[in-house]
Amino acid sequence: MTLLSAKLQAVLARIASAARQYGRDPGDVRLLAVSKTWPAACVCEAALAGQAAFGESFVREGLEKVGALASLGLDWHFIGAVQSNKTRLLAENFNWVHSIDRLRIAERLSEQRPASLPPLSVCLQVNVSGEASKGGVSPAAALALAQAVGVLPNLRLRGLMTVPARSDVFLEQRRPFRMLRELSEQLQAGGLALDTLSMGMSHDLEAAIAEGATLVRVGTAIFGERHKA
Ligand SMILES: *Cc1c(COP(=O)(O)O)cnc(C)c1O
Repeated sequence: MTLLSAKLQAVLARIASAARQYGRDPGDVRLLAVSKTWPAACVCEAALAGQAAFGESFVREGLEKVGALASLGLDWHFIGAVQSNKTRLLAENFNWVHSIDRLRIAERLSEQRPASLPPLSVCLQVNVSGEASKGGVSPAAALALAQAVGVLPNLRLRGLMTVPARSDVFLEQRRPFRMLRELSEQLQAGGLALDTLSMGMSHDLEAAIAEGATLVRVGTAIFGERHKA
């Protein structure tokens, strides 16, 4: 077994063990392998080890890998900030976008999604910890945005995503994830059919699973420390 596949198995074991510990079905928590900054060869190695869903934060870099690995039939998720001049590339090449925080971006993605592809799965990114430096819609504005995105023809609104302020204290890690889950419950009570809570990364995936994550986005624990560009 290669080092990468051993680390991938260890992350899958962490997910399964956290799910069991919090009374959840391990099959209800999916792993998104965040491959930003890592070359296509690393993605290919993870794919051969059984991983199918990959997350990218930069459009050009992601597109290179989508193109290079097209024959593998992988599931590509965009998790970075979306600029309006990049929406067409995302609509044409990705399966998911997790980082919708304004209607104009969603409208462009829907207009530009090719008719030959299924609807683009999207999540709204919510800024639950209220940090000025972070993207995301405010919790107070999330319902209105979700209702507007939910009716766009070529998008499928799947749920909510968040990147909270970093904490190493478990109970503090849980708080923003609980806020996202409660917000998702409010949106569902408002009539939206959501199936995704995209939350939890290498250092806090257990806290996210405790609060109901259905998809954890993990980079470092699989691929190693990223080098700053
Ligand atoms: C980089 C990134 C991740 C992965 O973080 P790790 O700490 O490497 O697991 C998850 N989500 C988003 C939005 C990211 O940008």
